[in-house]
Amino acid sequence: MVQEIRIAKRTGFCYGVREAVDKAKESADAGKRTQTLGQVVHNAGVIADLGARGIVSIAELTEAAAGSTVVIRAHGVTPAVRSAAAERDLEMIDGTCSWVIGEQKQLQGLVEEGYTIVLLGTPNHPEVVGLLGFAPDAIVVDDESDWDRIPRRKRMALITQSTQPPWKFERLAAFMVSRAHELKIINSVCPVTIRRQEDTVELARAVEFIVVVGGRQSANTKELTRLCEIVGTPAIQVERAGDLTDASVFGAARVVGVTGGTSTPIEDLEAVAERILTMAGTSDAAAHAHALAVAALGAAVTPAGRTTSLPGVQSAAPTDAQAPTGAAHRAHAGSHARRGTGRAAASAASAASTAAR
Ligand code: SF4
Repeated sequence: MVQEIRIAKRTGFCYGVREAVDKAKESADAGKRTQTLGQVVHNAGVIADLGARGIVSIAELTEAAAGSTVVIRAHGVTPAVRSAAAERDLEMIDGTCSWVIGEQKQLQGLVEEGYTIVLLGTPNHPEVVGLLGFAPDAIVVDDESDWDRIPRRKRMALITQSTQPPWKFERLAAFMVSRAHELKIINSVCPVTIRRQEDTVELARAVEFIVVVGGRQSANTKELTRLCEIVGTPAIQVERAGDLTDASVFGAARVVGVTGGTSTPIEDLEAVAERILTMAGTSDAAAHAHALAVAALGAAVTPAGRTTSLPGVQSAAPTDAQAPTGAAHRAHAGSHARRGTGRAAASAASAASTAAR
């Protein structure tokens, strides 16, 4: 029976998701007819909350009424989409994550410098689609089976979708060394993603079972599940607490971990923790499930890892040194608390990377 729940150290929305969601809410609160271009997060609860505020998701700009407001989500869009919004007389609120804006600028620079560009990313992922708007000829590769498609060229550049696992990026970088005379490597793996992975690996090593909470379509959530499996800790991925219906999945586990992707609000983690204790906890744990879940979240969410899902606190942002473009992040960092975890993060990143291999 489960006696204890531990929640991963840094949790909740990443700053990019939080800002896009907040911008949509602010727009609706201002009385604007607000739509998001694509789901702003892969999280059914958040989408339902936005829907209750009158914010709907549209797949194409053509679905937006003239004069209405469209929020660009954190993944960003192509320049062509921006132009089309202007042509259709739509107000566009840009919720593109500042990290992704940095990637877009970097790509634009690589195109101008004449590099043959390889983009590590999931084909058709919205962020990748947006990035290709800045470098239409970039070669998109994902799994290792794709890499033979990479040609040999004199000057090549490698860049990545923000949520790709660091170990895969490192491996591809090593692979590409023999593909080019000059190889420029832009490490645009988002530091927030790296920290989630570090924390999840650390947690997975300390518990007997782990529940990963996040959207089924969320790439960064799926990667967390995969890392747990690599560590050797049994793991399941759920979207919400209600998905947990079978107490037997926990087997003989006494200490269970809970972690979540960058689009998973902390409320979902708390609800999952409570659900585990209620359905699979010892009689004592089940009797105090709510209090124990609240305590687990309180113990996990350090000031550095908070998101605005907790009222009155600020969330973490990558340091300028980690940002793909300093300017983009200097502009961004003004609105966020700073963190001093660079060295610790680097060494833990290395641990996560090793585990992932
Ligand atoms: S995961 Fe990183 S790049 Fe993606 S939205 Fe969040 S902060 Fe931005």
